[in-house]
Amino acid sequence: MMYDAVIIGAGLGGLTAAAILARSGRKVLVIERSNSVGGAASSYKVGDLFVEGSLHETSNPHHPNDAKHDILKRAGVLDAVTWVPTGTLYEVRGGPLTTPFALPDNLAAGRVALRDRFPEARDGIATLFTELEKMASSSAETSGDMTLAQRLSQAFGGDEAAKCAIAANLWYTHDDASTLWWPVFARTQGALLTHGARFIQGGSQRLSSALARAVRAGGGQVLVRRTATRIALSDGGATVTHSAKDGSDPQTVEARNVIGNASLDALAELLPAAPAAALREHANGRTPSISLFAMTLGLSKPPREFGVSSYSTQLLPPWMTRLDQYIEGTSLMAHEPGERMPPLSVVDYSAIDSAVPAPPYVLSVIGPDQLSNWGADDMDAYRDKRGRWQDAIVAYLDGIYPGLAGAVVASSFNTALSVRQYLNAPNGAVYGYAPLPPSPGIAPPTPPTGIPGFYLASNYGGTGGYTGAITAGGACADIILGEG
Ligand SMILES: Cc1cc2nc3c(=O)[nH]c(=O)nc-3n(C[C@H](O)[C@H](O)[C@H](O)COP(=O)(O)OP(=O)(O)OC[C@H]3O[C@@H](n4cnc5c(N)ncnc54)[C@H](O)[C@@H]3O)c2cc1C
Repeated sequence: MMYDAVIIGAGLGGLTAAAILARSGRKVLVIERSNSVGGAASSYKVGDLFVEGSLHETSNPHHPNDAKHDILKRAGVLDAVTWVPTGTLYEVRGGPLTTPFALPDNLAAGRVALRDRFPEARDGIATLFTELEKMASSSAETSGDMTLAQRLSQAFGGDEAAKCAIAANLWYTHDDASTLWWPVFARTQGALLTHGARFIQGGSQRLSSALARAVRAGGGQVLVRRTATRIALSDGGATVTHSAKDGSDPQTVEARNVIGNASLDALAELLPAAPAAALREHANGRTPSISLFAMTLGLSKPPREFGVSSYSTQLLPPWMTRLDQYIEGTSLMAHEPGERMPPLSVVDYSAIDSAVPAPPYVLSVIGPDQLSNWGADDMDAYRDKRGRWQDAIVAYLDGIYPGLAGAVVASSFNTALSVRQYLNAPNGAVYGYAPLPPSPGIAPPTPPTGIPGFYLASNYGGTGGYTGAITAGGACADIILGEG
């Protein structure tokens, strides 16, 4: 059979493209190397412990201006899951803030909260919020070359507490305020504030599984535990070879189009030399995004009993007195734990109607990471060092939330190395490319690769996060549908 599209990878971008194409009557085949669909948008159990692989929050796709709204509707899944409000965008504690500050996930309430806390910055807050609201719209143009650090200095001068209050969730896009392109941050933060922040009830797996069901309901196929091992391109289309995990049982299928959802480096390895070079050329000059570590703690009691007072808390370490020091946290795990802890994002899933099973009560702790922090040659040494970091982070959390350490009954700890292994992302990137200001000769990433019939439906074909992957998937499907 000749498929209209073979999709390599069942992350959010690949599944979205596949669902829209299948529901439009196209013959699609999705190939996923893992045991289940979802990529980073997966949730699973380790013993009794529920692990959410990624999601803390995404902007509310039910808002008509949200970039995901029309796409998820066309993929048939907007109402297939429950998008639970997270209440506040986050509470930020520590760093230059003398007392915690809670930022509501609502533009008007957020503006008032910031103005009340930082009255001397009211003019800067007003202009910033006007821009955030404008950028939240899916049709807003990204332009200029200002960075987050420059824009916040324009608004707040040297008031680092105000800067951290509005941008403590830096890691949703990047780890360096000095190089993060302002419009990308403004679009993400603007959408969260204008449309509201949401978690997927029951975990991100529910969205990924709903997308896979939509593909199948449209007549498409989704194969798991099958790894794409080779792509051969010809004038009229392509062939894709896939095999079982151990390399056995190779099968080759024909397709008019190939859609890559796997990381760009992983896809290049599947192509012959010339198109592989063309694909790498397409990525030329772009910097890989940050990686993240994600520690999941199972507690015997709800986190609020230890003083965790918000669904999402951005914990800034005492050494961090300026927002632009956030990046210093990224390399800390290269060393043994010491005086300095990284900035941490802590999510208490029991604080909202998450339907995350408990007990144990799940506390997710995420921070910036990079592959070079971890040696992969000696896995015992890796696990030992990771264990020492876990102990140090739990002890640090116990200092802030007394009694928490004694309540830890289960845990799981993914690092940049886990990202590389589980998602087949050779550099450990979780968001595709770093959202840096434009530089001459480097076009923004798009689904077309310049190789006829070969597209990207992932963070590598757009921007990062759930919104970036889903919009790239939607754009990719539209291009193929537009070609007739
Ligand atoms: C710890 C963590 C926390 C996060 N928190 C948030 C958050 O709160 N909000 C938010 O918006 N985003 C968050 N993200 C980011 C978000 O999860 C990702 O941006 C998004 O899910 C990426 O989707 P994707 O479709 O681009 O690709 P991926 O999810 O990377 O999927 C790629 C898929 O391709 C498969 N694959 C690779 N090679 C092959 C092959 N050869 N054959 C077959 N299959 C292959 C992989 O197994 C994988 O399933 C987080 C990410 C992490 C890791």
